[in-house]
Amino acid sequence: TPAGTANIGVVGMAVMGSNLARNLAGREGNTVAVYNRSSGRTRALVREHPEACFLASESVDDFVASLARPRTAIIMVQAGRGTDAVIEQLAERFEPGDIIVDGGNANFHDTIRRERDLREQGLNFVGAGISGGEEGALRGPSIMPGGSAEAWETLGPILKSIAAVAEGEPCVTHVGTDGAGHFVKMVHNGIEYADMQLIAESYDLLRRVGGHGVDELVQIFERWNEGDLESYLIEITGEVLKQRDAGTGKPLVDVIRDEAGSKGTGVWTVQNAVGLGIPVSGIGEAVFARAVSSNATQRAAVHRSVQSRPEIAQVPDTFADDVRAALYASKVVAYAQGFDLVIAGAREYGWDIDLGNLAKIWRGGCIIRAQFLNRVAEAYAENPELESLLVDPYFANAVAEGEAAWRRIVGIAAASGIPAPGFSSALSYYDALASTRLPAALIQGQRDFFGAHTYQRIDKDGTFHTLWSDDA
Ligand code: NAP
Repeated sequence: TPAGTANIGVVGMAVMGSNLARNLAGREGNTVAVYNRSSGRTRALVREHPEACFLASESVDDFVASLARPRTAIIMVQAGRGTDAVIEQLAERFEPGDIIVDGGNANFHDTIRRERDLREQGLNFVGAGISGGEEGALRGPSIMPGGSAEAWETLGPILKSIAAVAEGEPCVTHVGTDGAGHFVKMVHNGIEYADMQLIAESYDLLRRVGGHGVDELVQIFERWNEGDLESYLIEITGEVLKQRDAGTGKPLVDVIRDEAGSKGTGVWTVQNAVGLGIPVSGIGEAVFARAVSSNATQRAAVHRSVQSRPEIAQVPDTFADDVRAALYASKVVAYAQGFDLVIAGAREYGWDIDLGNLAKIWRGGCIIRAQFLNRVAEAYAENPELESLLVDPYFANAVAEGEAAWRRIVGIAAASGIPAPGFSSALSYYDALASTRLPAALIQGQRDFFGAHTYQRIDKDGTFHTLWSDDA
């Protein structure tokens, strides 16, 4: 191995790391040092891609020696313990000014801790959220780096060269310091859960209430993908529905067990949102809906015990348009909530996050990429102090246009016994924000009654407590 000649290194040659290393090696002027704990993976990568400019190492010492200074290494290993182990190995050998990037799905609290510890050693640590799966890593992901502004100076050009491009702009920006990148990656994944749930509810209603066959559904999703819902998730929904099972000839979706899995980033989003007091009900409902779906025993028991199921409502031919409107409005709510969470996180952890730029780097490479994000970017560029995405004139108008349809759909779902937690909770959230007066006044009364928690009045300043009479 010629020492000190690679300008960038990647540790972890599983799916994500090997594809990212290939992406890096494909860019002019890059020599990519590669290393994996078990050397079989590294050897396989180098063997399969003889054309790529790789410098392969079978030990951490060799890997570190193969990097030019200041050293820059991207870690793509299992989040948690695996990441800590690799960081420790690199930190023992790296020198002040070197950069360690964690491109895995780290918990941002870990990223904050790691950045602080490594900064004490003079090392730059950058937690970078990377979205887009295997394909994104290879062809251009959306990259959400945190860490210091100094590290971004070195890292920025490299990351810009491998990121996805949307409307001529690379899908990467310095999100904020320390854990900001992994925080917004977490929120991205939460929004992804909400988007998927809303699409799933649309599919269910179109099929069970609208009576559309799978072939018609493919056409509906293809049509939707041409309008303001145009997005990767709508596109792949059509593709998933198109797929036939080779064995049975049935639509593949009909032979897949209806129990949704998850890897936990949605749960993180909701946990942190609850802690910060931000109602991300769209993401929450999506996380809960997956949990409900996976509880097969409970579902079977309740299904057996219910006496009767309501009849499916009769709907007009325009039903699919109504579903589309409900999906769009609920999506606006989910994004409004997600961006509220980013704002709250930035305030809590001291990050200066440009929401317009954040929306822009999600336009390409990542799972939630969509036309829609252009509008979000415009909304926050126009007014960075927006109280909610729902008050941006464009979105306020779009939601108002679809509002009647949205209400019809929630009503029809309830009457027909079709669960639509995403649609209905989004509508409730919208109605709560739009209400001049909420029943929270009664809750304050109850709280004061049993716990002397006090309340405030609409007509006087100050804090009040009532001596509630027992025999009232
Ligand atoms: P993974 O299955 O999460 O992890 C396997 C890799 O981690 C292997 O290279 C493994 O090395 C290494 N590893 C585990 N423990 C280690 C330790 N103690 N010391 C050194 N190396 C260790 O791999 P992945 O699916 O490619 O994902 C990598 C990261 O990207 C993860 O954080 C993941 O959450 C994130 N991510 C994944 C996706 C995706 O679509 N898969 C998308 C975005 C982000 P050995 O080969 O020696 O076991």
